Amino acid sequence: MIRKLIYTLLALTLTVSGTVAQHYNQFVTKHDQYKYCSNCGKPLNGENAHFCYTCEKYIPYWELNSSVLFNVGAMAPIPVPSPVKHIYTWYPNINPALNFTITRWMNSNWGLTTGITLEVKSFEATTKIENMDINVVSDDESGLGGHFTGFSNTDIKNNYFTIPLMATWRTNNQKLNLNFGLYGSFLMKGHFRQIIDGNLHVETIDKTVIDDPYDLDMDMSKFDFDDRISNYDFGVRFDAEYYFTDRLSGIVGLRFGFSNTMKSSFDYMKYKMYNMFGCFGIGYRL
Ligand SMILES: [Zn+2]
Repeated sequence: MIRKLIYTLLALTLTVSGTVAQHYNQFVTKHDQYKYCSNCGKPLNGENAHFCYTCEKYIPYWELNSSVLFNVGAMAPIPVPSPVKHIYTWYPNINPALNFTITRWMNSNWGLTTGITLEVKSFEATTKIENMDINVVSDDESGLGGHFTGFSNTDIKNNYFTIPLMATWRTNNQKLNLNFGLYGSFLMKGHFRQIIDGNLHVETIDKTVIDDPYDLDMDMSKFDFDDRISNYDFGVRFDAEYYFTDRLSGIVGLRFGFSNTMKSSFDYMKYKMYNMFGCFGIGYRL
């Protein structure tokens, strides 16, 4: 239901933004707002085209941007837990992030930016674990808790619908933009698969301490935590954008989540998980 609503909202937003962009372009062409003051109608001066010397003020305006970025990172505890002794492999996958942003330039250097992002945050990693406290559900459905030693393979792929809210600063020559602010993400589809291979020293069953701990061979045991992924993620977001031409730019950025990406019902391990991703890609000014 919520997912359907988000898809509908998204489709609506894209349609509306497309229409806005079209009308905006027509408006710019028609009224030549870069040449005449929207306040007094007098011509604006060349280079600093948004400052009216008659009104003696900056004329704020909207700017629309789109970009295709690729997220590279992981969803993991911070810092890396001490039982994780070695990271053998880490595959970042191809994680596209489609962005549409709108900026309100308040003066020649500062603006406010928001928009929508459709993005994937995924990776796969294999690690060596020594004595990590974990809780698993056994084949006979009882909850087994204890210390695990062995190998662990994590495969996570989350699709998010994200809304950023950022302050934007640009250089006087308008070639470099820096965005910094917050993001809120809604989970559209979550996938979290864990395979462990090694030894579990069982000390609790259904969270009750047992008198006779025993060793259990976790032979490529597979666990699925899809339904334990939090529906939300909040964090900070930073982007640096450099314009090579009037419209085309290169972008690098960072996103750090500060909310636990797992629900409190996730008790496989006691650590909280956070989204930590960098990104790179190209932007296009609409
Ligand atoms: Zn004016």
